[in-house]
Amino acid sequence: MSRTAAPAVVILLGPPGAGKGTQARMLEEDFGLVQLSTGDLLRAAVAAGTEAGKRAKALMNAGHLVPDDVVLAVLRDRMAAPDVSRGVILDGFPRTTRQAAALDGLLASAGQAVSAAISLEVDDAAMVARVAGRFTCASCGEGYHDSFKTPAHAGQCDACGSTEFKRRPDDNPETVAERLKEYHAETAPLIAHYETEGVLHRVDAMGPIAGIRAELAEVLSRAMA
Ligand code: AMP
Repeated sequence: MSRTAAPAVVILLGPPGAGKGTQARMLEEDFGLVQLSTGDLLRAAVAAGTEAGKRAKALMNAGHLVPDDVVLAVLRDRMAAPDVSRGVILDGFPRTTRQAAALDGLLASAGQAVSAAISLEVDDAAMVARVAGRFTCASCGEGYHDSFKTPAHAGQCDACGSTEFKRRPDDNPETVAERLKEYHAETAPLIAHYETEGVLHRVDAMGPIAGIRAELAEVLSRAMA
C-alpha cells in the first residue's frame, strides 16, 4: 500500500463540522486504516472518569483545547495497540504546532513520517448549523443530522438497528463558536506547516459526502502509491 513497509499516517485537518469524523470512518473502509480521534479518546476518558478525563471535561464542555500532555498520553496509549499497525487516520490531532512537533518526534523515533495531511476546506458560517444538528448512534457510532441525514426509519440506526442515539454536550452554538475560534488560532497554522513539508492536500468539503469521499480516496491513493 505504501512505498515502504512503514504504516500510513494520514492527518485530517478542518474546523468542527468539516466532516473529519465522517470521512475518517469512510477511509477506514476504503483503505483499511484505523481512525484515531483524540476527541473520541478524550470523551471515553471523561465517561470512564479517569484522571485524564477529569482534567479534560470542563475544558471540552467550554470548547477549549485540552492540555497537550493529557492529549498525548491518551494518544500514545491508543497508538501502542496492535490494530494500528497498518496505519492511522488522525482525526482531531495534531491541533497545535506543539502537538505537530510531538507527532513528528514520535513518528521519527519509529522511522516513520506523515504520509498525507488533508485540509477539509469549508465555510465557517455553515459549520454552526452543521454541528448543532448532528447526532450519532450510541451503539455503532454512525453519524446523522437533523436536516441533512436522518435515519431511513425514524429512531432506528441504518447501520446496526439500534434505537439509542446520542448528542455531544459541546455541539451547541455557543461552544461551536469557541471551537471555531480555537481552530483558527491554534490549528489552522498547521496547514502551512504541512504545506512546507510537502504533504498537504486541500479538499473542498462543502459538497455532498459521497463526492468528498471519492476525492479523498483519489488523493490518498496517489499519496500512498
Ligand atoms: P473533537 O471531537 O475533535 O471535535 O474534539 C472535541 C474536544 O476535545 C475539543 O473541543 C477539545 O476540547 C478536545 N480535543 C480533542 N482533540 C484535541 C487535541 N488534539 N488537543 C486538544 N484538545 C483536543
